[in-house]
Amino acid sequence: MASFLLDNADLQYYLGEGLDWDALVRLTERGQNGPEGFASTAEALAFYKETAALVGELVASDIAPHAAEIDRQGVAFAGGEASFPPRLQAINRQIADLGLHGLVLPRELGGMNAPMVVYFVVGEMLARADAGLMSHFGFHGGISTAMMLLSILEGTTELDPGTGKVLRTRWGDAIREIASGQAWGSMDITEPDAGSDMAALRARAEQDGQGRWLVSGQKIFITSGHGKYHFVIARTDGGAAGLAGLSLFLVPAYRDEPDGRRTRLATLDRVEEKLGHHGSATVAITFDRTPAELVGRAGDGFRHMLEIMNHARVGVGFQSLGLAEAAFRMARAYAAERRSMGKTIDRHEMIADYLDEMEGDIVGLRALAMHAAFHDEIAQKQNLFGRFLPPVNGSAGAPLREARWHRSVARRATPLLKYLSAEKAVEIARRALQIHGGNGYMHEFGVEKLLRDALVMPIYEGTSQIQALMAVKDTLGGIIKQPQAFVRRTAQARWRALSAREGVEKRVAKLQQLSLSAQQHLATRTVAARVSAVKRAVSSQPMSTWAGALFQPLDPKRDFSLALLHAERLTRLLADELIAEVLLEQAQRHPERRVWLERHLDRAEPRAHFLHTEITTTGTRLLAKLSPPSEPTQQPAETTPAPLPAQPEAAE
Ligand SMILES: Cc1cc2nc3c(=O)[nH]c(=O)nc-3n(C[C@H](O)[C@H](O)[C@H](O)COP(=O)(O)OP(=O)(O)OC[C@H]3O[C@@H](n4cnc5c(N)ncnc54)[C@H](O)[C@@H]3O)c2cc1C
Repeated sequence: MASFLLDNADLQYYLGEGLDWDALVRLTERGQNGPEGFASTAEALAFYKETAALVGELVASDIAPHAAEIDRQGVAFAGGEASFPPRLQAINRQIADLGLHGLVLPRELGGMNAPMVVYFVVGEMLARADAGLMSHFGFHGGISTAMMLLSILEGTTELDPGTGKVLRTRWGDAIREIASGQAWGSMDITEPDAGSDMAALRARAEQDGQGRWLVSGQKIFITSGHGKYHFVIARTDGGAAGLAGLSLFLVPAYRDEPDGRRTRLATLDRVEEKLGHHGSATVAITFDRTPAELVGRAGDGFRHMLEIMNHARVGVGFQSLGLAEAAFRMARAYAAERRSMGKTIDRHEMIADYLDEMEGDIVGLRALAMHAAFHDEIAQKQNLFGRFLPPVNGSAGAPLREARWHRSVARRATPLLKYLSAEKAVEIARRALQIHGGNGYMHEFGVEKLLRDALVMPIYEGTSQIQALMAVKDTLGGIIKQPQAFVRRTAQARWRALSAREGVEKRVAKLQQLSLSAQQHLATRTVAARVSAVKRAVSSQPMSTWAGALFQPLDPKRDFSLALLHAERLTRLLADELIAEVLLEQAQRHPERRVWLERHLDRAEPRAHFLHTEITTTGTRLLAKLSPPSEPTQQPAETTPAPLPAQPEAAE
């Protein structure tokens, strides 16, 4: 029987020795060993593998063969509701019947209590069959786990101090409804005039005479927004402008009456007509004084949204990976059959080079995706247990210290993963189409669908540019805050490049040196811009304003402009560097992984030299055009003090 798990040795590596399953099982089961739990890591892992194998067969046999039909039929809008064709309904029912919506939810809430990493493996395989369908799947588990997480954080969940089991939780009924597949949710941020720029969001929430919250405003492009439970970001009355005035609400969009009728509490304006992702509904929805529940405290909406979005970005990483895997396999199979000029096209050098790069990229991306997912999950679980449960062993602070470290690892990896996987999904799908020649342009072969589906990856869950801004902000902010640590890392990389015993270790160290050198260039130029701005202020302003000019914080618009101009280039370099580090670590534990590291380095090394040259030699001409010296932003004394680059989705 066909299986998207068993035909993929790289994916199977992570369901075995590729991840520290002891750590994942220990934290996920946390003292729950009993009739429902597992006696050992091996037993738990056998169960996860069995589940993944079941899904691998389902997607290969029952979903992928219908991808073209799903794409052709799409989701319609009828009678104010989204209407799914019978095939999509049947597939969604199959997924629900297997209990997959509860995969990571606690058993006591109707779930299977599996680690998030298993959920991402399932997500990747679903996306390989149909990326749109995977999106809809993600808004079941994604929203119900967000309900759990936010309720724990706001203190409305009671956990058993011994076992960590959920005794009571604020949205328990909704979570059970979602786990059973009867309902799902959505994340409602985007509005007609605001997407990346969340400070410009206008939807409002106000309290009535009894203190009940009511939300008003239109949200657009909402994936699975035809569902019941909407996490809505809205501006709270009297709240501050910008990001601090945003709050998060849980808003049921309809109520099903006992007689079977549906009462809508928010109006579906339309199902968006889109280029791809026809397996999921994307809607515009209007809330008009719709009753809402405030999550946490008013004004914390942006922070809560980031909690949810960080996981969603890892999810998009796996979704992009699944789509890239489908495109690569389709291209490889076609190239092995199609003949041109006396041989199959996979024997022609240029096509062979494409296929070789696609395959290596996918292995590198999966390493990055697993790295991000693993550390994100450990960080989150350690943090929750450290804060809300008594310690099992050791000191009370240990889990929190460990959580902070894992969080910093995940924070470095997540924007790099979202950026690179999305961009590569488009590149790989585009190359797959090219390999198909004219056939690729025809609907019949299905490869153009992959390109249409891929094109949204760099747009949603924070565009590629926003990911790049986040990565650069963190990287340069870190250097400027702790220059000694940066100098130490540079010295260590130089030492390893000279003295490492293994050739591959030296190569990784040299790649790190190039990345560090590009970072240093941008950090130096950022600080230099600041110093010259201060100099200008000192020479042209009265002495009474000097202190203000000297101690003004860095302004993203003025001081970081060169770094922002090169943000995508630096992000590519940082991603190549991190993939090399993860693959090196794998190769040191499992020598058979070394071949993937070498293949990655063969491609990443020349790319890094090119990116380094671009970053260190270009940009000033355009910057001069964007911001001539006479512009007010060049005058520190006249500029409102601003924190470190607080790009809308970058702050945390
Ligand atoms: C199929 C689909 C599903 C979606 N699902 C959801 C959903 O479920 N929930 C939801 O809330 N939204 C959803 N969205 C919306 C999506 O998240 C936004 O489209 C996205 O955040 C970009 O916002 P925007 O469209 O307003 O573009 P803009 O923010 O106007 O950006 C336009 C361009 O400018 C760039 N840009 C913006 N600011 C900067 C900057 N400071 N520096 C450099 N470049 C910049 C962007 O990167 C982009 O290239 C979905 C969109 C699509 C297409």
